[in-house]
Amino acid sequence: MNRLVDQLGRLPGLGRRSAQRIAFFLLKSSTEEALALASAIHDFKTDLKICGQCGNVADVNPCSICTDTQRDPQTILVVEHPGDIVQLETTGQYRGVYHVLMGHLSPLDGIRAGDLNIEPLLERVTTQDIQEVILGLHPTQEGDGTAMYLADQLHAAGVNVSRLARGLPVGASLDSVSKAVLGDAIAGRNPMNAMQ
Ligand SMILES: [Zn+2]
Repeated sequence: MNRLVDQLGRLPGLGRRSAQRIAFFLLKSSTEEALALASAIHDFKTDLKICGQCGNVADVNPCSICTDTQRDPQTILVVEHPGDIVQLETTGQYRGVYHVLMGHLSPLDGIRAGDLNIEPLLERVTTQDIQEVILGLHPTQEGDGTAMYLADQLHAAGVNVSRLARGLPVGASLDSVSKAVLGDAIAGRNPMNAMQ
């Protein structure tokens, strides 16, 4: 029991009490249910890779988007989750590459810049010839806060920053809006100016 609680307690956002609640839940669950979780974690780690370039989840590293020579490697669209890329790709409107943060800043939940895939993004814009970074964070309070933080860092690195247009309904996640709205948001993206 202690071993499991220790492992669960290492997960982001889970303190020891939450870890204990999950452990008790698993204790009461059927063996089948509990092992389904274990095998999902096992398969997830053995079958999937993280693209070393953009942080997307893929079956090859680097991923097929990063290695697609038809795409513009000088434009990076920053998203929170791999699922956002799937949605954006359905619009067929975007021909640049991506960068996946794996979440957003959330000081209340203890999620800080160091917990996200931010440092590799800054490294990309300083070591590669990047023309524009488009921020495609979700239109939520945390997404906005993360966008402001990133814009600041990216401006300091001397790169043009824009964000998806505000046709997106406030509070919506990218995977719940229609293709058309998402396509408009890419086409009508707004430049983000450096703060004075
Ligand atoms: Zn990639």
